[in-house]
Amino acid sequence: MLDKIILLADIRYAAKTPHIPAQLMAPTGLLSDTLARPLRDLRISVTDRCNFRCSYCMPSEVFNKDYAFLPQTSLLSFEEITRLTKVFVAHGVEKIRLTGGEPLLRKNLEVLIEMLAKLQTPAGKPLDITLTTNASLLARKAQALKDAGLQRVTVSLDGLDDATFRRMNDVDFPVADVLKGIEAAQKVGLAPIKINMVVKRGTNDAEILPMARHFRNSGVVLRFIEYMDVGATNGWRMDEVLASKQVIDRINAEFPLSVIDPNYLGETAERWRYDDGAGEVGVISSVTQAFCGDCNRARLSTEGKMFLCLFASQGHDLRALLRGDYSDAHISAAVAHIWQRRSDRYSELRASLPPDESPPSDGSKRVEMSYIGG
Ligand code: SAM
Ligand code: SF4
Ligand code: SF4
Repeated sequence: MLDKIILLADIRYAAKTPHIPAQLMAPTGLLSDTLARPLRDLRISVTDRCNFRCSYCMPSEVFNKDYAFLPQTSLLSFEEITRLTKVFVAHGVEKIRLTGGEPLLRKNLEVLIEMLAKLQTPAGKPLDITLTTNASLLARKAQALKDAGLQRVTVSLDGLDDATFRRMNDVDFPVADVLKGIEAAQKVGLAPIKINMVVKRGTNDAEILPMARHFRNSGVVLRFIEYMDVGATNGWRMDEVLASKQVIDRINAEFPLSVIDPNYLGETAERWRYDDGAGEVGVISSVTQAFCGDCNRARLSTEGKMFLCLFASQGHDLRALLRGDYSDAHISAAVAHIWQRRSDRYSELRASLPPDESPPSDGSKRVEMSYIGG
């Protein structure tokens, strides 16, 4: 019976067995894909489970008690994650984001952070390590995360109105507890804190201004994310997307804003500062202003599959190499081979089509955000 469950979980998303080139080249830190995009950012999903059921991510009708989450044996161990991260860092990755599912549900996550915090870039710099969380467990864990070497956190929060927030997380979780988590993170210095708000037109767009007012002058950077057609279960519709431009117009009408330069090439958020000096907000316009041209992100799923795009339906099974008889040099060559052939630009292609139409796919199911990590 157990074997059967494992098999079902493991074949949920197709994965290619990575090709290992005959000649193993040493990494140079300068990998480039077919669109001249470097590899700089690795998002690591540490669990596919979550204690929330946000309808845009893990709708409760699908992620119910019968849903087959990954069994423990499928998950990469902390040692395996660290070994792979080292390989990615040698290829140019400078930034690590731990995500999920809800990453704070992964037992002893601070041990993994401690292991990752010891790694350095080829130039001898520490990695930029961050975490995206729903903050339900943050008040309890903030100090341990900071002590382990985590530098900052991004908290997802879709509104301040308690009824709206409880409805959106669909598990009746109170907004006050998320705010306590943010406060705890501030207190221990997990800064700068960013807040992600997914905006769904007609569901929580009335929360845009209350959120902006609340986080002005707090040092926290609030970012509004366009609701994306990621995965295959959230029933996405274009008419539920509120374009970032409208978000900015609404805030600008009350608090004048000016656009500012990105912090670095490939930053997903467009930055705006309050003219009165009350801080900044950001918008992530994956739907209305695709930013594939600068996309330097790879993703590692909970079970060790490497994905190249949030909208992919197929990964590359690095766990098979980790658990096979392969050296780091083999794995490194496989990763280079995969990245050098990458041509993904889903959001750009979708933007060129009529609303509600998706770019052609190979017919396989698109991977869920909770599995691949946001
Ligand atoms: N559970 C953690 C959390 O919510 O912060 C980490 C994982 S979650 C998948 C990562 C991010 O993806 C969150 O900020 C979430 O709001 C965002 N997200 C999930 N589904 C989305 C969608 N359909 N459109 C836009 N953003 C989405
Ligand atoms: Fe869970 Fe985060 Fe997805 Fe919400 S967005 S269901 S908190 S993984
Ligand atoms: Fe990157 Fe894919 Fe998103 Fe484009 S659609 S920005 S390639 S993850």
